[in-house]
Amino acid sequence: MGQQHVAIVGGGLAGAKSAEELRNKGFKGAISIFAAEDHLPYERPPFSKDYLQSKSKFTDALVHDAAWYREQHITVLQNTRVTSIDPAAKTLHTDAGDSVDWDQLILATGSVPRKLPLPGTDATNVFYLRTVEDSTNIRRHFGSGKNLVVIGGGWIGLEVASAARAADTSVTILEGAAAPLLNVLGPQNAAVFAGLHAAHGVDLRTGVKITELATKGSQAVGVTLADGEVVPADAVLIGIGVAPEVELAAAAGLEVENGVLVDAALRTSNPDIYAVGDIANHAHPVLGHRVRVEHWATALNQPAAVAASITGSATEYTELPYFFSDQYDLGMEYIGHAPNGSYDKIIVRGTTDDLEFLAFWVSSDNRVLAGMNVNIWDVVDEVKALILSNRSVDLARLADPTVPLGEV
Ligand code: NAP
Repeated sequence: MGQQHVAIVGGGLAGAKSAEELRNKGFKGAISIFAAEDHLPYERPPFSKDYLQSKSKFTDALVHDAAWYREQHITVLQNTRVTSIDPAAKTLHTDAGDSVDWDQLILATGSVPRKLPLPGTDATNVFYLRTVEDSTNIRRHFGSGKNLVVIGGGWIGLEVASAARAADTSVTILEGAAAPLLNVLGPQNAAVFAGLHAAHGVDLRTGVKITELATKGSQAVGVTLADGEVVPADAVLIGIGVAPEVELAAAAGLEVENGVLVDAALRTSNPDIYAVGDIANHAHPVLGHRVRVEHWATALNQPAAVAASITGSATEYTELPYFFSDQYDLGMEYIGHAPNGSYDKIIVRGTTDDLEFLAFWVSSDNRVLAGMNVNIWDVVDEVKALILSNRSVDLARLADPTVPLGEV
């Protein structure tokens, strides 16, 4: 038998980490990363944070430099899209016209921004944010005297608003719901973020309906609301969520439902094909249900489990969902999983007024499902322990900052 070949479809963080973890675990065969972008794999968080504020360089975001891939004998095919996968023949095809054999395949295709299907959104100063180029283009429109309209008060919208304000740009956020991040954080915590942005001079409009973008030639000049008001814009950023890139998987006959269905060890319905990162709809062995997480930490951490399975020790992925955000002087982390409808109440430890608190999403039998720390650091492990204990807690002690978290 010839050398084993693992093909990795997707050149983002999850793809690069898959290659790295295979080598870490002693895989000696061939590894190829097929990357649609014309870059080495890079991490995306800086492009709505530091890089967008011109505080870091593109190369700072690279997962590894070119020399590292050479030394590790990992082939990165940049600017190469996989166009189809044939699981029976164990081949894939690329847009360069190549047919490539593989023994194991890792799908790490990530997400694409959801498009806003309204007139005017094809104007040249209307942006979505996914790539380094997007970030570079958006920050060109920052500056004193310029109006940026942000459509969508999710993570992208809020982080871009924060970066734009740092450059003294006038910012209006248009959010359809009653508050930004309402579905993720619930009303009380959503209000914290609404207040934060208002305090930093953002004109935050909630409950708005957008009918079209007003244009002049190829340029958007404003965003038209259902009541006829036109919010003036020199540039528009749309951040209304993303859709997992599952077309290849679906066409290959893999089970697809809100992402690619994978078992506890991140294996798809084909035992030689794995999926990691944004696209993986994972049967989470600790949470006891499926979860698909569109955040950096999942792309970072899931590949180690896949590499372990490929190198001979079938390994379940057990990490809890985790993410972080930085906006103005607010830094936060969130661990656990408590989507709308899954929790009974939110308990706050400290006060939200001074932007230094913890919030816990709690079940009807008082188990902690998720926790968020705002401007309080080095507590994630303790919050995680509370969640993993899966035990009912005393809510008064949970809310009391004088009771050490470890003793709740
Ligand atoms: P997102 O966090 O899912 O937020 C999308 C927001 O847009 C939601 O508030 C949504 O409201 C709103 N929305 C949807 N349709 C709208 C419409 N037609 N008009 C106005 N508002 C609308 O997605 P995102 O901000 O676009 O971010 C993209 C992805 O990158 C997400 O997966 C996100 O997790 C990830 N990301 C993460 C971080 C981080 O972890 N710090 C930072 C940046 C990006 P409803 O909820 O009411 O639908």
